[in-house]
Amino acid sequence: MNEKPQVRPELPYAYEAPVSQSLFDRASAVTPGGVNSPVRAFRAVGGTPRFMVSGKGPYLTDADGREYVDLVCSWGPMILGHARPEVIAAVQEAVARGTSFGTPGEGEVALAEEIVARVEPVEQVRLVSSGTEATMSAIRLARGFTGRAKVIKFAGCYHGHVDALLAAAGSGVATFGLPDTPGVTGASAADTIVLPYNDLEAVHEAFHAHPGEIACVITEASPGNMGVVPPRPGFNEGLKTACAKNGALFISDEVMTGFRTSKAGWYGVDGVKPDLLTFGKVMGGGFPAAAFGGRADVMGHLAPAGPVYQAGTLSGNPVATAAGLAQLRLLDDAAYEKVDAVSAEIRGLVTEALTKEGVAHRLQVASNMFSVFFTDREVLDYEQAKAQQAFRFNAFFHSMLAQGVYLPPSAFESWFVSTAHDGAAIERIAVALPAAARAAAEATE
Ligand SMILES: *Cc1c(COP(=O)(O)O)cnc(C)c1O
Repeated sequence: MNEKPQVRPELPYAYEAPVSQSLFDRASAVTPGGVNSPVRAFRAVGGTPRFMVSGKGPYLTDADGREYVDLVCSWGPMILGHARPEVIAAVQEAVARGTSFGTPGEGEVALAEEIVARVEPVEQVRLVSSGTEATMSAIRLARGFTGRAKVIKFAGCYHGHVDALLAAAGSGVATFGLPDTPGVTGASAADTIVLPYNDLEAVHEAFHAHPGEIACVITEASPGNMGVVPPRPGFNEGLKTACAKNGALFISDEVMTGFRTSKAGWYGVDGVKPDLLTFGKVMGGGFPAAAFGGRADVMGHLAPAGPVYQAGTLSGNPVATAAGLAQLRLLDDAAYEKVDAVSAEIRGLVTEALTKEGVAHRLQVASNMFSVFFTDREVLDYEQAKAQQAFRFNAFFHSMLAQGVYLPPSAFESWFVSTAHDGAAIERIAVALPAAARAAAEATE
């Protein structure tokens, strides 16, 4: 990998990105905040978001011609790295046959079969185009199936921008959901009960307070949207038991963990059997493809088999399903072993560098997903996640960025690696870490 541009650790961490800056200026004129998804805008860490023009394996190249080792992997989907030849070939073959038919096609059947084969609790599955659609539809189905209105979710868990699920506020125990954002009415958040994550006692209290009213509990299978905060041993099992006892459905949101944390996602790790599961990210191979599925008797309530309506013009799109299927078929045991090993190696390097500089931190891990909390306490819920010294992350982030390593631009996001992160990519991370750890140590609020 000698042809790669030399890393220059002596660079100050605020450096110019003139082409990205001019693109961002253009973008800001025509798009709110200059981005099509808020976290891309670098608001949390400051500075100019990098506009990427291409990706290859573990690398991204920005509009200024700088190359980065990518530790975001499109927020999870690119588990085989960028532009994996077999995936690109499958897309090219599919796209040459036409891009959308508005009819059933074999590709969507094959992708559904692949999901059903991998994840045992999924007996039937419906394809959609985004994780948001998947959770929104799963909640509607749970309400339609049970004839009940209320939904339990956990603070710090993200399930897409579904109105009813954008209620995450509320400190302490069982409060009623307060909408987090203007535009979500009190009425659509009123049936959402927000509880602290990892707190089974709060779940039991909520069921007790609302007998016969709770349609479902939805949780991230292992949360990665407040940083990585895995379930305590027995937490998911406890949710399942509480749901079963109270006639509610247990929905495991595997949009992030699905087909990433193992061949069968987080279900493959903890074996707790949900009634419904949601998927996205990895299963689309970099295209908009997502899904929800689970028990056949519940899924049978969906139109046209049953009365609960759900639809999509581009659902099961032939190009997206070809990409997803090609990616899933490459994700065998060896691929997961590789991703796990890459993750372990990078985690070791991060801890070593931060420890050397005396920076209080905790690396939290869920299979190959991980994130760094700048705190010395274990993080079990959103309140504890928010208590970290996020300003240290921001200094750390910019130092890594200046040295050619692209981290998620927020202290509250998982880092993602791929099978393509080879020795050269990891070496570049290793070279960048000491200066970034120093920047974190020296950072002030
Ligand atoms: C990303 C994510 C979603 C939303 O998926 P989109 O495709 O962005 O709509 C939902 N749930 C979880 C757990 C996610 O990580």
